[in-house]
Amino acid sequence: MYIGGQFVDADSGDRYDTINPFNGEKIASIPYAGVIDVDKAVAAARTAFDSGPWSRMSGEERSDLILKAGAILKERMKDYARLESLDSGGTINKTGADAFLASRQLTFFGEQAKRFNSEPQPIDKLMREGRSFNYTIREPIGVCAQIIPWNFPYMMAIWKLGPALATGNTVVLKPASDTPVMALELAKVFDEVGIPPGVVNIISGPGGVIGEALTTHPDIDKVAFTGSTEVGREIMSKAAGTLKKVTLECGGKGANIVLEDADLDIAVDGSIWASFYHQGQVCESGTRLMLDAKGHDKFVKEMLEKLEAMKIGDPLDPSTQLGPVVSEGQMNSVLRYIEIGKKEGAVLACGGQQETGKGLEKGWFIQPTLFTGVTNNMRIAREEIFGPVLGVMKYNNVEEAIEMANDSIFGLSAGIWSSDIGKAKDIASRLRSGTIWINEWHILSERAPFGGYKQSGIGREFGDVGLNEYTELKALYVDDAKTRDNKPWYDMVVSRSKSDN
Ligand code: NAD
Repeated sequence: MYIGGQFVDADSGDRYDTINPFNGEKIASIPYAGVIDVDKAVAAARTAFDSGPWSRMSGEERSDLILKAGAILKERMKDYARLESLDSGGTINKTGADAFLASRQLTFFGEQAKRFNSEPQPIDKLMREGRSFNYTIREPIGVCAQIIPWNFPYMMAIWKLGPALATGNTVVLKPASDTPVMALELAKVFDEVGIPPGVVNIISGPGGVIGEALTTHPDIDKVAFTGSTEVGREIMSKAAGTLKKVTLECGGKGANIVLEDADLDIAVDGSIWASFYHQGQVCESGTRLMLDAKGHDKFVKEMLEKLEAMKIGDPLDPSTQLGPVVSEGQMNSVLRYIEIGKKEGAVLACGGQQETGKGLEKGWFIQPTLFTGVTNNMRIAREEIFGPVLGVMKYNNVEEAIEMANDSIFGLSAGIWSSDIGKAKDIASRLRSGTIWINEWHILSERAPFGGYKQSGIGREFGDVGLNEYTELKALYVDDAKTRDNKPWYDMVVSRSKSDN
C-alpha cells in the first residue's frame, strides 16, 4: 500500500491473494488493511492538506506533475492493459481501451489543474465601487476518501484521483478487494513524478471495514464513491454523522429503446455492444432492450445468431469477445438471477449457464444469455444483474416505451436507435437519465458530465461540473466604504463616538 509517501504493509501484516478470473490462479499477494491503516492514511492526507505544499501550490505546478504522470501512463499502456486484464478478467481489447483512456483522462485533468489557482472571480452584479468588492474563489475541499468498484478498476481510479488532485485535494483511495492491482501500481507513478508525500494514499482491504472507517472518519471532508446503490445508500447515511460532502456513482438499469425506423444492422450490433461489453459488468449498460412489437421477432432472430457466434475465451487472446466475470461470487449471483428470470416466466432464448468448454473449466464464464418476454415488473428488469444477461421487452407504441424506461429506481443511462434524429431527441428529453445515447452506447468524453438521476447517484464526474465537485466555493466581501459615515447600519447596534461626528 502507499501511505504518506511510503510503500508499506498492513499494520497487522495480514495479506490476501487476488485471483485471475480466467483460471482461478493467484496473481498477487495484497496487504489487507484494517482500521489502524485507515487512521494512518487519513493522518498522512490530513497533514499533507493542512500544511501544504499541494493544496497551496499554483495550478500550473500541480498541472505539471499530473501531466508527467499522464505521460507515464501512456508509455506503460500495454503493461497496464495486461495487468488489468489479469486482475479483472476484462478482455485485452477492453483493458487496452481503458489504458488508453486512463492516460488521456489523466492528461485532461492535468490540463484542467491550471484553472484552479485560487484566482478571484468577480461577482459582477455585487461589485460596487465605494461600497464593496465581491469575489468568489474555488478552493479544494480537503481530504477526500475515494472508494471504487471492480468493473473498471484502473479507469475508476483515474476518474477519482484526477479531479481531486487537479483541484488541490489530498486523497485516500480504496480499490475493490477483487481488483486492487492497478490502483496500487498507480501509487508508484505518483511517487515517481514527485507528488508530495501524503497527497495520494492508497490502501487495500475489505470494503465493509475500511469503507466504514473512511466514511465515518472525522478528518475526512468528502467521500466520493462508485459502486452499487445499496452500498451508496449505506455510505450516505454513515457520512451524515459528520456531514461530509458525498458524491455517489451507483447502479443502473439502462433502457435501450429501438424504434421501428432504426437501421437494423447497427441497432442489433449496437444493442449487443450496449449490454454485453465487459460481460455486462458496466453500470451504464443497456440491460432493458425495448423492441417495437412489429419488429421484435426479426430483431431477436438476428441478435440470437450473433450471440451464439460470440467468441468466449482467454481474456488475453485479442480475438476473445466475452471473458469471465470478475469472481466466483459474481458468477453465482448472475446464475441466481438467471434462475429467477426463468421462475418469473421470462423465456430463455439462449445461454443461461456457466460456460465450461475446453480451456475454460477453471474460469468464471457465463454464456451470453438472452431472455425474451420480459416485463418491467420482473426482478430481472428491476435489479442490476451485472453479467452477460439481457432482457427483451415489447412495446406497442413509443409512449409505452418511455413509460417503461422511466419506471425504474435507476436513472444512469438510456439509448434510442432511430433514423429520425429529431424524434430520438424528443424521446431523449423525456427520459429521466443522466446520459442518453442516440444510435450509440458506452462512448463517454471526459469533457461531458457523467452521473445518475434518481437512485443512480448524486453529483457528476467529468466536465467542469465534475471538477467543481471537489471544490468549496468561497465568497469574499472586501469593504470599499472606508469611513464610519459610510456605514450607517452600524448605528443599529452601536452609537457613534464623538470623533466620528
Ligand atoms: P460494491 O458497492 O459492492 O463495492 C464498491 C466499493 O465499495 C468496493 O471498493 C467495496 O470494497 C466498497 N464497499 C463495500 N461495502 C462498503 C461499505 N459498507 N462502506 C464503504 N465501502 C464499501 O460494488 P461493486 O460490486 O464493486 O461494483 C459494481 C457496482 O458498481 C454496480 O452496482 C455498478 O452499477 C456500480 N458502478 C457504478 C458506476 C457509475 O459510475 N455509476 C461505475 C462503475 C460501477
